[in-house]
Amino acid sequence: MPTDTLIAFAAITLPILFTLRYAFLCYVRPFREHQRCRGTGRIPYPFGLSGWRFCPRCNGTGLRLRLGRRLWNRTRRLYRD
Ligand SMILES: [Zn+2]
Repeated sequence: MPTDTLIAFAAITLPILFTLRYAFLCYVRPFREHQRCRGTGRIPYPFGLSGWRFCPRCNGTGLRLRLGRRLWNRTRRLYRD
């Protein structure tokens, strides 16, 4: 097999594989760890104050819906309505 054909095959196949892998990941594990609170659901007070508060973005759960899953849910909602 020539090298050019192999490179072209890889350039076409790899993005498709990564997309399918991400779609599968969105289906199996729709939530991912929230980056700001690192999955704890708590963030420290700013300006050196002691203590913590619940993370306002994830409501203290430490989980965020993946972007792909969010888009999928929006598409399903549009289709249903
Ligand atoms: Zn959070």
